Amino acid sequence: MRIDVLIFGGGVAGLWLLDELVRSGYSAVLVESRALGAGQTVASQGILHGGLKYTLKGAFNNAAKEISQMPARWAEHLRGERKPDLSRVVMRSGYCHLWRTGSLSSRVGMVGARVGLAVKPIALEQSDWPEWLKHGAGEVYRLDEQVVSPPSLVRELAVPHLARTVHAPEPVKWIVAGEDVKSVRIGGVTFDPACVVLCAGEGNEALRNQLGKPSSLMQRRPRQMVLVHSTSGRNLQWVNGHCTDTSRTRLTITSDRDSMGRVVWQIGGAPSEDGPDWPPRKLIEHTSREVRACLPGVDLTGCEWATYHVNIAESATPTGLKPDGVFALREGNLVTAWPTKLALVPVMVERVMGMLDQPQPSSLEAHRQPELERALTQLPRPAFADPPWETISQWMTCP
Ligand SMILES: Cc1cc2nc3c(=O)[nH]c(=O)nc-3n(C[C@H](O)[C@H](O)[C@H](O)COP(=O)(O)OP(=O)(O)OC[C@H]3O[C@@H](n4cnc5c(N)ncnc54)[C@H](O)[C@@H]3O)c2cc1C
Repeated sequence: MRIDVLIFGGGVAGLWLLDELVRSGYSAVLVESRALGAGQTVASQGILHGGLKYTLKGAFNNAAKEISQMPARWAEHLRGERKPDLSRVVMRSGYCHLWRTGSLSSRVGMVGARVGLAVKPIALEQSDWPEWLKHGAGEVYRLDEQVVSPPSLVRELAVPHLARTVHAPEPVKWIVAGEDVKSVRIGGVTFDPACVVLCAGEGNEALRNQLGKPSSLMQRRPRQMVLVHSTSGRNLQWVNGHCTDTSRTRLTITSDRDSMGRVVWQIGGAPSEDGPDWPPRKLIEHTSREVRACLPGVDLTGCEWATYHVNIAESATPTGLKPDGVFALREGNLVTAWPTKLALVPVMVERVMGMLDQPQPSSLEAHRQPELERALTQLPRPAFADPPWETISQWMTCP
């Protein structure tokens, strides 16, 4: 079965690329080994960054410039003014709060945060501070970086193209000639793609190994994230933002609702970076102390806590630190890509589109389309991944 592009990986990157390809007249199919969104995407906090993390130390580098355009770009998609139309994506918040505690060291972070951001933090009068920041915050800003619900984003991107997605839990069979992938056998169907794009996040490493390509292109940065919800019948406050004491993000908290309608916090920032290998209880105790220090007005009585592990997968850098923007490399007819941030996916997709050959004339021939559709009906569709809080078997209390 001749097709233009075969994508591996149904996270936000692969799904956005599939949408772009189909709208541009390519015949494209996406292969997912687990469930749509299963890697970093549904585990992420969904903040459409404008570069805060890059500028906290006061530096305004290339990465900061690229990402500084992202909130405006996403806003067009979220308003439905630009394809893909994401106007039905569930929003966690239209903006983030940025605050520091009263401690002296916290001033350093705030100064850095104000430098070089296209989206400038706006200082809020005390009367406009949210209730949960009224006790103990030193300064509070509003940062116009939207926060989306990643599971909803995955659905909105995937649903129009489900018929072009394939669930392939087993390793696929490759036929390679020289630098090029000639054929890929999945279940009972053999695809002959003009181009293969690896958008499988951490899975890119194993896929590149299968293809005999050097895997040293990728690095992992492990994270252990903390989850908390209330069982007292009184919900946690709807918090979306960062406490930026010092030049690090001391805490990043985002809020969503679980299937029982309870508010659940995802907590990242310094604890998740410092404690990827800590026993969950140690990390939970440390994080709860941090939450009490950063949000002294919030009552955590009757809360239950849990953690989950996830690796950030991205292109390798000499220092092991965050890469300078998106990565895409073409070798023969194989493209390997990592967006680095969810917010940077539109840039990654443009980069990959610029590396592809024009659609084959055959893909525009109407008679080939039913043939592809028939072949795809022989293969199973992937399910949608559950968000992390729906997968926890045991929640803990914390003194
Ligand atoms: C805890 C955390 C919080 C984050 N928060 C933010 C944030 O607030 N804002 C932001 O901009 N970015 C954030 N990020 C980064 C962001 O989540 C990632 O950059 C983005 O989701 C990567 O998307 P992806 O599609 O490239 O990869 P993934 O989401 O990892 O998707 C890869 C997909 O490929 C599939 N796959 C793997 N192997 C194979 C195979 N062999 N064949 C087929 N499919 C395969 C996986 O099952 C998965 O579905 C966060 C990341 C983490 C870990």
